[in-house]
Amino acid sequence: MELEKIMAELERRNPGEVEYLQAVHEVLESLEDTLNENPHIVESGVIERMIDPDRVLTFKVPWMDDNGKVHVNRGYRVQYNNAIGPYKGGIRFHPSVNLSILKFLGFEQIFKNALTTLPLGGGKGGSDFDPKGKSDAEIMRFCQSFMLELWKILGPDQDIPAGDIGVGAREVGYMFGMYKKLSGVHVGTFTGKGRNWGGSLIRPEATGFGATYFAQEMLKVKGETFEGKVVAISGFGNVAWGAAQKVTELGGKVVTLSGPDGYVYDPDGLDAEKIEYMLELRASNQDIVKPYSYEFPNAKFVEGKHPWEVKVDIAMPCATQNELNKEDAENLVKNGCMCISEGANMPCTPEAIDVIMESKMLYAPGKAANAGGVAVSGLEMTQNSMKLSWTREEVDERLQQIMKDIHNACVEHGKEEDGYINYPKGANIAGFLKVANAMLDQGVI
Ligand code: NDP
Repeated sequence: MELEKIMAELERRNPGEVEYLQAVHEVLESLEDTLNENPHIVESGVIERMIDPDRVLTFKVPWMDDNGKVHVNRGYRVQYNNAIGPYKGGIRFHPSVNLSILKFLGFEQIFKNALTTLPLGGGKGGSDFDPKGKSDAEIMRFCQSFMLELWKILGPDQDIPAGDIGVGAREVGYMFGMYKKLSGVHVGTFTGKGRNWGGSLIRPEATGFGATYFAQEMLKVKGETFEGKVVAISGFGNVAWGAAQKVTELGGKVVTLSGPDGYVYDPDGLDAEKIEYMLELRASNQDIVKPYSYEFPNAKFVEGKHPWEVKVDIAMPCATQNELNKEDAENLVKNGCMCISEGANMPCTPEAIDVIMESKMLYAPGKAANAGGVAVSGLEMTQNSMKLSWTREEVDERLQQIMKDIHNACVEHGKEEDGYINYPKGANIAGFLKVANAMLDQGVI
């Protein structure tokens, strides 16, 4: 009842912020029993204090294109919650970016970061700037202008951004360069940095690797492995390529990749050469999924459709929010899919989640399954503080352990009476309790 009131008040104060309200609703719904058992959390206003960001910075980002024309985009940083550590979360550059999307991402980030076992608070930022088709020089000028405002609220113990959609190593480089110039210090205020100036090995592929390790843990529960499994992956970016690489290494066959205009179906599955080609296409910054089907003749491009209609054993949505709807979920269930591991943030719509949960298949929400990215960001911060650099094996070993720990936390809090593991519920409760208890310890601030 109390939760219904809180949700109604949130809707009244944030009209039209669909993604934000969807994310908060999903978490609060799964917390009902936990809150009934811990009335002191509700009474101390922790929920209201957690669902509102600590602060939001909005600013204009003027920049000049290669023809001398001036453009103005909007920049944001949502500093959500720093109860267990400094604000931490990626920066997204995409025309769809708005406050609702960044608040949903920042809110999810609080729980994800808590699950990593590392001391990281939650935040998110970005701009409605579209990097597609822009020259290097235009990207650089945009990133520099973006940082002219943002740098004021960043710092290694304050707020540490990273990449997300449309932001990879190149953009982090330009933003960090400007940050360093303005602040006069070379510290680990960004993660996802280049290898030669503070970046960690494995960071670029960490989210996809982590989502695969998480799926591996879920499969183990059923006595299964990736060996011989057919896997659908969506997207074609940072997360998708790491997942494609690790699934292939573990003996799975990745048969799809996708972009906003459709998907590629490759019945032969990806291999090292094809993943290399995928990276080249990605670097070309163009319309990228379709050409894959020209290069590898057995592959076909299916326009305007989602890859979830293909018969697979495992699905890994790695593109964007709400990219897997009810019909897609029904197709997956009908075709005997046994496991979904979310590389992207909130890729399944609420209606899709209902269908998935009803089928009792293995289903990991993004805040658990894709936490490997921020976990290795945390490891990058540790290496920066210690002024040393770990080997690939050391980072990978830690990443695998963190994904196992997150899996165990989900099992501990999400196992139902009939033995089914409700991973979304487990992840929400484990992440929430850690942050809520820290907020209780620290008083009303
Ligand atoms: P990228 O920009 O590198 O890749 C996103 C990919 O998804 C691109 O191939 C893009 O195609 C495609 N895409 C975008 N919109 C759609 C759509 N509507 N339908 C199908 N495909 C689409 O982003 P990331 O890989 O970094 O991020 C992907 C997801 O993972 C996001 O939800 C992000 O928040 C989440 N995430 C990322 C982390 C990271 O470390 N990078 C960490 C944790 C979560 P195109 O380029 O043609 O638009």
